[in-house]
Amino acid sequence: MATAVRSRTGPATGFPTRMLIGGQWVESRSGKTFETINPATEEVIAQVAEGDAEDIDAAVKAARAAFETGPWRRTDARDRGRMLNRLADLIEENADELARLEVLDNGKPISEARHGDLPLVVDCLRYYAGWADKLHGQTIPVRGNYFTYTRKEPVGVCGQIIPWNFPMLMVAWKWGPALAAGCTIVMKPAEQTPLTCLRLGELAQEAGFPDGVINIVPGFGETAGAALVEHPGVDKIAFTGSTEVGRIIMRNAANTLKRVTLELGGKSPNIVFADADLDAAVEGAILGLYLNQGQCCCAGSRLFVEEPIYDAMVERLVERAKSRKLGDPFDPTTEQGPQVDKTQFEKVLGYIESGRKQGARCVTGGKRWGQKGFYIEPTVFADVKDEMTIAREEIFGPVMQVLRFREVEEVVQRANTTDYGLAAAVWTHDVGKAHDLAHRIRAGTVWINCYDVFDAAAPFGGFKASGIGRELGEKALDNYIELKTVTVALR
Ligand code: ADP
Repeated sequence: MATAVRSRTGPATGFPTRMLIGGQWVESRSGKTFETINPATEEVIAQVAEGDAEDIDAAVKAARAAFETGPWRRTDARDRGRMLNRLADLIEENADELARLEVLDNGKPISEARHGDLPLVVDCLRYYAGWADKLHGQTIPVRGNYFTYTRKEPVGVCGQIIPWNFPMLMVAWKWGPALAAGCTIVMKPAEQTPLTCLRLGELAQEAGFPDGVINIVPGFGETAGAALVEHPGVDKIAFTGSTEVGRIIMRNAANTLKRVTLELGGKSPNIVFADADLDAAVEGAILGLYLNQGQCCCAGSRLFVEEPIYDAMVERLVERAKSRKLGDPFDPTTEQGPQVDKTQFEKVLGYIESGRKQGARCVTGGKRWGQKGFYIEPTVFADVKDEMTIAREEIFGPVMQVLRFREVEEVVQRANTTDYGLAAAVWTHDVGKAHDLAHRIRAGTVWINCYDVFDAAAPFGGFKASGIGRELGEKALDNYIELKTVTVALR
């Protein structure tokens, strides 16, 4: 089951490369495999079983059987919570190994994987473990001699499709509420980063989840992903990824009327007023953009800076961007690793080129870093105009756009002139102004004097083209629940 691999940059590690269907680790029906690449070295890490429609069908049948006739159906809610807690314990016990595997497959710096992603994964699973036995219905005072109550029942078999930027964290955000609610799962991890998801599948078995409750089918979006979305045996699709693919998924899920939740792209405004704590705003801008190599759906990629501090802020940002340490992601002092793959690397370089062509001023960075691996220098564009491509489209890389503003009304209007609405931030000492902007900006999350503060209890998701529904918090449980009304005639 485990493939031993020695990475040149990381310590030896073992992990599964087959798919998990009905509690069994199996090769794909077709026998096909695909390569997963270490983005820091461009070397192949392993061959992974490549699922397509047939494998998805087998996984959906296993999930359906587990939902309808397996022991899961009779598992007490409190025991579902215990299993989630046990999974969280096992992740903590194996945290170093999991962090290394994530770094190998994704390229993110080990310090972030170990001290950023992993604690959030554990916290998320524990948070939903606590919800499992607290999903109450209500009694409803209806007219007539009836007794009416509601029940919160699991929605059924859930297809979960996740991206490559936070592979383990996306597993936790999807599994936590689904399992707490009593659903069963067929998950398709991103083709760029299947390894930690599969390893979490092993740990879930160890945690006691019955066979078929969690199925994992690695493979590509147009084959395995599309088959999952179209499968009539799937009740719900939860997707995180690009807005473009979100649209396709919503269309394809319509034929079978699946419940759909989507967490999509963003072009988030990060607004700095002249009265802000400049040191904190600079750090917030750097974190908000460069975290995870800029590969965050909520990246603060439109940095609006008020006129009086614009030049000083750009100067400070350049200094900080230049001082970032790029290199081997296994080095604990590395701050920035490579982009996840060649496609993303080329796409980001293409955006840099377009920024230059359209007249933005590249004040630092702007090219590849090193000879090997998909590294891109931390890049800052100043004098960016709203209509430029780099100010409108999601770049998903370490490329910051700094825009100038003069008036509150102006910046609110410009911040909202986007199809997206995932996140925003406001930096000011003026409490009234901060809350006024927070209310007027059309985005699912607004941070005031901070950025990228996530908590399992705080809902996250998008307005407009950034998605449908919310993940995290109590709200996310609704994604996995059908509400049933029961009425009894009294005598
Ligand atoms: P990104 O642009 O960040 O790579 P994508 O939206 O392309 O994000 O991919 C996110 C996830 O969606 C991946 O697991 C990918 O395989 C999957 N995916 C891509 N295309 C489709 C599709 N047509 N149907 C279902 N899933 C898809």
